[in-house]
Amino acid sequence: MTDFSKTKAQFHIPEGMIYLDGNSLGPLPKAAPAKMQAVMQDEWGEMLITGWNKAGWMAQPTRVGDRIARLIGAEEGHVVMGDTLSIKVYQALASALEMRPERKVILSDSGNFPSDLYMAEGLIKSLGQGHELRVVAPEEVEANITEEVAVTLITEVDYRTGRLHDMAALTEKAHAAGALTVWDLAHTAGATDVRVAEAGADFAVGCTYKYLNGGPGAPAFIYVAPRHADVARPALSGWLGHEAPFAFDQSYRPGAGIERMRVGTPPVLALAALEAALDIWDMTDMAAIRAKSKELTTLFAEEVSRRCPMLTLASPEDPEARGSQVSFIFEEGYAAMQALIARGVIGDFRAPEIMRFGFTPLYIDAADVMRAVEIIDEVMTGKLWDREDYKARAAVT
Ligand SMILES: *Cc1c(COP(=O)(O)O)cnc(C)c1O
Repeated sequence: MTDFSKTKAQFHIPEGMIYLDGNSLGPLPKAAPAKMQAVMQDEWGEMLITGWNKAGWMAQPTRVGDRIARLIGAEEGHVVMGDTLSIKVYQALASALEMRPERKVILSDSGNFPSDLYMAEGLIKSLGQGHELRVVAPEEVEANITEEVAVTLITEVDYRTGRLHDMAALTEKAHAAGALTVWDLAHTAGATDVRVAEAGADFAVGCTYKYLNGGPGAPAFIYVAPRHADVARPALSGWLGHEAPFAFDQSYRPGAGIERMRVGTPPVLALAALEAALDIWDMTDMAAIRAKSKELTTLFAEEVSRRCPMLTLASPEDPEARGSQVSFIFEEGYAAMQALIARGVIGDFRAPEIMRFGFTPLYIDAADVMRAVEIIDEVMTGKLWDREDYKARAAVT
């Protein structure tokens, strides 16, 4: 059993704030500043260039990758850190497409995050081999997995509604049709009990600044199934994915297994902050997180629906069918969210009219949920959002 009051005490949450936006940017682990200070002063400051060996910086991307592996049900030694999620999507998709040269369709859904679709579009243009990005409604993915499909590119949780795809079932269907799968775990790593190995996923990618609390711009991760790890050709063939980076050969030879998915110099400082966050993850496991998350999202969805009839639930009612977020549709959702933020309830807004709230058992408990519900009730029932200053849009929503 996880003691969530202990994990909550590990985070800095500003006084009076109920933070329901950990699905966009997780809060600061209290240990992170000291950890970064130590890496800066004791390692960068004192060791300088020798830190690559002495402090183990060079092995950090796979060492940290193994800690992520535990949280996404991956085999040890098959996850590596680096770059941003958009880059990792590109890498996974490029390798997967090359493994199905006779097929030309990339299947995705309209609930996918735009960056994933943009990266696919860009890759298709660069390849110039007549690939097609086929985007269907989320509920139509399964029916569209045909023998034309080379690769499915699916984000497990819809960033707007929180609707959850069945990774195991879709992967099985894809394999039966001869297709490969690239799973984006942006909204599930650290949020649901992801099991990439059990589901048979071919590739998986994700970021670490959302539910995993690694900090703004924290590095992304990529998983390649063991059966593909020495076969997949890396499209971004940087020197640190080379078999022998310090041989400085003229031509590229891919490194062993997951090492080949490295590109350039690892973000050592950013990885140090992420490691502080992962220390908190060592206090729990994903089964406990998922169980608590379902409790919290159900409590929130039921209470808000009951008290605020002007809000329409956009997330699935069944907790099994959604990730760790609850969304509501409201025409003046932007202004309503600004009114909530002004009162310390932090969620976010996704155009055109989604109010989104993320729940993270690591630092959100039932008492927080009920306080947030009270404030939402006050704002909605009293129309406290109906002010010009709440309606003026900022650059980042
Ligand atoms: C958050 C998110 C991204 C963001 O990509 P970055 O390269 O890290 O900015 C991409 N895809 C999905 C599905 C996301 O949820």
